[in-house]
Amino acid sequence: MRETNFLIENNARHMWHPMAHPAEMQANPPHIVQAAKGVEVTDVEGKTLLDAVGGLWNVNLGYSCEPVKQAIRDQLDALPYYSTFRGTSTDTAIELSYELAEWFKTDGLTRAFFTSGGSDSVETALRLARQYHKINGQPERTKFVALKKGYHGTHFGGASVNGNANFRRNYEPLLPGVFHLAAPYSYRNPFNTTDPAEIAQAIARQFEDEIAFQGADTIAAMIMEPVLGSGGVIVPHETFMPLMRAICDRHGILLIADEVITAFGRTGAWTGSRGWGVKPDLMCTAKAITNGYFPFGAVMIAEKVAAVFEGSKGAVGSIGHGYTYSGHPVGAAAALATLKETNRLNVAANAAARGAELLAGLEDLKAKHELVGDVRGRGLMCALELVSDRKTKAGAAKDTVQKVFDTAYAEGVMIRTSGYNVIISPPLVITADDVSRIVSALDAGLTAAGGK
Ligand code: PMP
Repeated sequence: MRETNFLIENNARHMWHPMAHPAEMQANPPHIVQAAKGVEVTDVEGKTLLDAVGGLWNVNLGYSCEPVKQAIRDQLDALPYYSTFRGTSTDTAIELSYELAEWFKTDGLTRAFFTSGGSDSVETALRLARQYHKINGQPERTKFVALKKGYHGTHFGGASVNGNANFRRNYEPLLPGVFHLAAPYSYRNPFNTTDPAEIAQAIARQFEDEIAFQGADTIAAMIMEPVLGSGGVIVPHETFMPLMRAICDRHGILLIADEVITAFGRTGAWTGSRGWGVKPDLMCTAKAITNGYFPFGAVMIAEKVAAVFEGSKGAVGSIGHGYTYSGHPVGAAAALATLKETNRLNVAANAAARGAELLAGLEDLKAKHELVGDVRGRGLMCALELVSDRKTKAGAAKDTVQKVFDTAYAEGVMIRTSGYNVIISPPLVITADDVSRIVSALDAGLTAAGGK
């Protein structure tokens, strides 16, 4: 094993990190994680922490999921790689498409297009949406609608529908013909109300207004996360996604649910859309589909969309899109084992139960600490929004947020901060004791950072 100093020096010298300034990473070395077990990770200093981030919202079953590890080992021995490009397939990828169709049957999603991760899934869905309309004889339907504060990965299509300037500005110009509606965000919004149901209605009016302006016959799809994750765990009112669905239907616009975080139980429902009673036309999945053990994703496709492609003739219906690793057999094997364990452990129910306890704990922290401006969550995706002044809602200073992180770390809990939000997205297999550990580490962090 290398010395810690070697790792720190070479991390600074040779490695650029996603979502970070290279110079800042050089000045402030990251915590280097070396091992993990159960729901805990261990850093190179030998410190063990409860991982309240769940990897990156993806390690739903924790780090010791033996059936998934074994499936990966077995698949590596049997067939470490083969492609699914036209003309070939693999038994494992076929098996997975069968299991996913079973899994998503109630959502009406019965075809899978495999990808290597979330950004690939978003790109796939955006492209398939445009192609769907071309096959249907509506080639002018090319535009996309999305939500401010939405996060849809980093490819140019995904970045174009992203609703956060940080992920856009340095990479412009992006795709033309993308417009954004307000986020369903009660704590901060342009509507002069904090009532989530009113906000849902206001955004629906905005959507209708924008459709009238753009022309419905120019719009391919609306993309949204059922619960907005990276934007700060923004939980819309229960009427919001059904409203978006109804407007899409009224105007022939496809609805893409970006469930890269929310599929497979995180919100307490098996999918975020199902939790809101909505059937999307395309659903992007990735992350927890392999429990984070292998980069993999799937776009699930509704019967209605499938029928158009499968009923088409000639080049317009041929999918000129795909990845070397689409349906990677090792990823597919990991996903098959993950689905089985996810189902056996009924993690959606645990996410709902532990999520309710976590949210109650976070509400207590809000009552105790002035620093907490807002608390949000659904299932095991939660956020604390830290403010320096509750009246003006000015976001907390960077070093205040850092202090919360550092103290929680010292207390043995890994959390994630994003701007002035603290994001909590632990594995879905955590216990009530784990929830208490997370809440008390945050309590210590908020106290140290100046809360009361
Ligand atoms: N969509 C959503 C909703 C996400 O949360 C993410 C990743 N956090 C992505 C897309 C992109 O996924 P990936 O990082 O695997 O490309």
